[in-house]
Amino acid sequence: MAESTVDAQADSATPSSHDAREARELREALHRYSRLYYHEGRPAVSDAEYDRLFRSLQALEERWPELRAPDSPTQRVGADPQEGFETAAHVVPLLSLDSSQEESAIRRFDERLRKGLETPPTYLLEPKLDGASIELVYDEGVLTRAVTRGNGHLGEDVTANIRTIPSVPLRLRSDERAVPRRLAIRGEVMMTVSAFERFNERLIGKGNDPYASPRNSAAGAIRQLDSRLTAERELVCFAYDVLLVEGDRFRRDQDAFEALAQWGFLRPDRVRVVSTVDEIIEYHRWTDADRDDLDYEIDGVVIKLDDLDARADLGATSHHPRWAMAFKFEPRKEVTRVERIAVSVGRTGVLTPVALLRPVQVGGVTISRASLHNREEVARKDVRQGDRVRIQRAGDVIPQVVERIDEPGVTRGEPFRMPARCPACDAMVIDDGPRTVCPDRFGCSAQLKGRIVHFGARNALDIEGLGEETAALLVDRGLVGELADLFDLEPSALVGLPGFADKSAANLVDGIQRRKSVELRRFLHGLGIPEVGVTVARDLALHFRSFEAIRSADAETLASVPGIGPVMSEAIRDFLTTPANARAIDHILERGVAPIPPEAPAETELAGRKFVFTGGLARLTRAAAKKLVEAAGARAVSSVSAETDWVVAGSDPGSKYDKAVELGLAVLSEDEFVQLLEDAGVEVPP
Ligand code: NAD
Repeated sequence: MAESTVDAQADSATPSSHDAREARELREALHRYSRLYYHEGRPAVSDAEYDRLFRSLQALEERWPELRAPDSPTQRVGADPQEGFETAAHVVPLLSLDSSQEESAIRRFDERLRKGLETPPTYLLEPKLDGASIELVYDEGVLTRAVTRGNGHLGEDVTANIRTIPSVPLRLRSDERAVPRRLAIRGEVMMTVSAFERFNERLIGKGNDPYASPRNSAAGAIRQLDSRLTAERELVCFAYDVLLVEGDRFRRDQDAFEALAQWGFLRPDRVRVVSTVDEIIEYHRWTDADRDDLDYEIDGVVIKLDDLDARADLGATSHHPRWAMAFKFEPRKEVTRVERIAVSVGRTGVLTPVALLRPVQVGGVTISRASLHNREEVARKDVRQGDRVRIQRAGDVIPQVVERIDEPGVTRGEPFRMPARCPACDAMVIDDGPRTVCPDRFGCSAQLKGRIVHFGARNALDIEGLGEETAALLVDRGLVGELADLFDLEPSALVGLPGFADKSAANLVDGIQRRKSVELRRFLHGLGIPEVGVTVARDLALHFRSFEAIRSADAETLASVPGIGPVMSEAIRDFLTTPANARAIDHILERGVAPIPPEAPAETELAGRKFVFTGGLARLTRAAAKKLVEAAGARAVSSVSAETDWVVAGSDPGSKYDKAVELGLAVLSEDEFVQLLEDAGVEVPP
């Protein structure tokens, strides 16, 4: 559905038929999504998509108030109560919150309040708990009613279920503060992430489908018809608002919040009182950074005006109070659909199933592919073409399909099967544990493309412009059949290819030619030898100092290099002596590629000695200390053994220190370490 086109008709006096139709379509879609979300616990679109459509409708209705239907989702909260429970009216309407992910919207909210209030606002900041909202009513201190939010006015009476939650006081404490005649509070029923994971494991163990999120699971739990099922889910309830109090009075929300604890409620952590918008933004940042360390899910922070009289003056719309605002986090999990499952072949020949997705924004990045790892993982998650899935993005990691979301009644596609032949070169694939591998290392174009990208990567030869697209182009156009061919490329062969003009073609060729002289460690890493990452490549280069020496070393000699074990040395040896690999490497060297050995380390008396660091250093960083060790021709290794010459112990040293004492090794303080280096002629920066 398109975003509303409000600006286009800014001059006309009545909404066009197009606007009216769009408003109707948006209303219908939002109603449908709400029903699936609230009643059936199976969202059809991501929250971000729902919010986007919601805002489009809001904008349209603001422009044309006559399009604002009484049943518009912008005018109401949640969804009507469902059958199966008694319906109960709320003591005070349980509204939703106005929300935004944008800092600018929070600044506008603050400005609006500052303008409308006589005294500058003070705000109470709380985490926005991602659970199910509940109203609890206490008469003379005894829990008499618990009602779900429902449509904000009418909810479901779930008192029997809520009584099973240990953190809900059945009777208010009265030792610190008198119990009011009547008290209505608002809280959030949550499932902790650990309880959720345990619960889902049990479901999977019994062959049932897991729940999509702790929120869904908590909302489902409080609406069980059998309270014993609610009790099984290990729910917690955080109380955060006093909705009504008879026989007591608060002027500020912080006082009410304090009283909640005195009456025996569990309250959310990290609540703060602040007075500037910058503090709000800082709080949001701080809470977002800690988000993954909490054992319950939060999806933002809530900003509330602290002064309760001022709140009453500002009032509410039918959807949300005007004195509060949710400042949401960028979502990291989203729901979308698998359009197809493709299989990609990497540089080592491993076939990876990849879900090609209907594009969706996750944490501000558009995601259209997610890894499904291997055939066992696809089978375990039972993801098929056309399925609805939840995807997740963590930092820079490749997005993952977390789970499939069940759609009862929908006919699904066929189960996914790994192809019997490599999709790139048609060779018969082989199974290697859960992995599927194309064995034709040299005949497979996909593996060659992967090798080219790896060869030119930043920590290998670092050739600018040799990314995935270019590698694919070079292979598909038959310009490169093996790595050595890169060095024969002429600009004239590239000019005119997609993305290449005179200058870019010359730049690429020039960039490749310049890397004919390249550090040995980079060259080694670039060859893609199994087990040889950046560190091992550096160790090999430092030890052998020439490529020929590495090539001619037998497995035993390789294993004598510190940090290289027998398995690694066999793998390296195997790779280098396989005739096809050896030929490919010869071809590269024949093109004039000359790896440069590392600079000879200083000839100090520390040459060849081994240091281990443990604990925190005060004067140097670990990285700086290691560099100095290398400059002295010595090595910094990670584990303590009888071969270790010195253990440098900083503050709070760990088990390496104990081991050093046990082995009777020389232990140095940081000062002694610095002295040792200086005595050996190494310059230590002040
Ligand atoms: P919401 O979840 O954005 O925020 C309001 C709720 O936050 C309150 O009702 C309350 O339960 C809760 N809350 C948590 N901590 C709080 C605190 N400290 N103070 C006050 N309230 C706190 O709004 P909503 O009305 O529950 O749901 C609307 C949202 O649900 C939409 O923005 C959308 O993201 C999502 N939704 C998604 C779909 C879908 O299909 N994906 C459908 C409907 C709604």
